[in-house]
Amino acid sequence: MSHFLRLHTRFGNRHSDRNQRRHHSKTQRHLLFQTGSLIIWLLAILLLAGCTAVAATDSAAPAEVVQVDQPPAIPSPASGSGGDSAVLAIPAQITLAPTATPFTLPEQAATAEPTATATLVVVSTPTPPPAPTATATSTPTPEPTATPSPTDTPTPVAVAVEEPTPTPVPSAGIRYVVIISVDGMRPDAIDRTDTPTFDRLIAQGAFSPRAQTIIPSVTLPSHASMLTGMLPEHNGLLWGMPYIGWPGLNGPTLMSAAHDAGLSTGMVFGKHKLNYLVLPNSVDQLFGEDAHDPDVRDHALEIIRGGLPNVLFIHFPDTDRVGHAYGWLSENQLYAVSYVDGLIGEIVAALEEEGYWQNTLLIVTADHGGHGHGHGDDSPEDRTIPWLAVGPGVPQGVTIGSPINTFDTAATAAYALGIPIPENWDGRPVMEIFQSR
Ligand SMILES: [Zn+2]
Repeated sequence: MSHFLRLHTRFGNRHSDRNQRRHHSKTQRHLLFQTGSLIIWLLAILLLAGCTAVAATDSAAPAEVVQVDQPPAIPSPASGSGGDSAVLAIPAQITLAPTATPFTLPEQAATAEPTATATLVVVSTPTPPPAPTATATSTPTPEPTATPSPTDTPTPVAVAVEEPTPTPVPSAGIRYVVIISVDGMRPDAIDRTDTPTFDRLIAQGAFSPRAQTIIPSVTLPSHASMLTGMLPEHNGLLWGMPYIGWPGLNGPTLMSAAHDAGLSTGMVFGKHKLNYLVLPNSVDQLFGEDAHDPDVRDHALEIIRGGLPNVLFIHFPDTDRVGHAYGWLSENQLYAVSYVDGLIGEIVAALEEEGYWQNTLLIVTADHGGHGHGHGDDSPEDRTIPWLAVGPGVPQGVTIGSPINTFDTAATAAYALGIPIPENWDGRPVMEIFQSR
């Protein structure tokens, strides 16, 4: 009943209701307008505050290093994107804002305390002239048996090519050669961060902080020269394209020469494009994908524990990636160097545990250096690379005085293994490391 009355009353007062509604709707519109304006203002304020916060994060973030307790899960990078400048997403330990891509470094592996031998470290200072090599223990340098090389041709760079090709002699103690390349590692980075493994190896071996890579000082051509023993114009690899399988490279490579000599070979690398260096039927065990340093370590350890091939090449890619992302010698890149030092320590430990260490020549080097956020030019920062050799007969705690170019690496490895050095190679063995033979 009351319901009916209320309806009736409302019908009866339709006119005034309409006015009221008009008035109400006017009020509502006003309210709506006010509320709308308020919301718009709020949104504007929020947007402004957001932008300010982002800007503040941008400027403040690079100095921040966030430590995460749990070990990071390393995602597998997208295949085929292994360019020097391609920054692969690594899980967050360090989150910096300059790029939209969060880039993180793996957690520092627990590394052994520096041993007492670290006091013998040869300090690497790239500027002073090469000091004459002095070893307390070295015997007079035996002249390498020299055979004149009729095929020597002048090379465009200042390399000691006038020397005759040393005739390889079977080494007394070296049955294996392990070459480790830390992508983009400048020699002076070793001095600026904790590197107990490098310190120990430098104390146990012969080291040059002034070795040079080729021009262009970029990953693929530099590694090509390192492993072919040739200048880019001779091996044909003058570019840094992603791997599509073509065009190829002029051999022989260290791997193919070793394989042809009946030796076993293995390669583990963390940039897919280095597949250009794999000539057909030259590598027995191969891992070559876009991967991170810990993956490379894992595959290298697997190969070592399964039976070390006579020649093993190991390439750690992340120091270069961190350099591109955060700058050469930046805090983050030095962290990457310190991290890879720990991984190299694990590889050395595995070689020792498996009984190979006493018969292994280990060469640790890099493909190029860098400055700013890149590399590739003819500057000393980009072209100067570390070159370290440790092994049977290698003088200990010595700074190598003679000039070394990256293509001497293959020649040195071949010489150590007693493999004839191919005539079309530009490189020559670094004879200073064979002094005590
Ligand atoms: Zn590189």
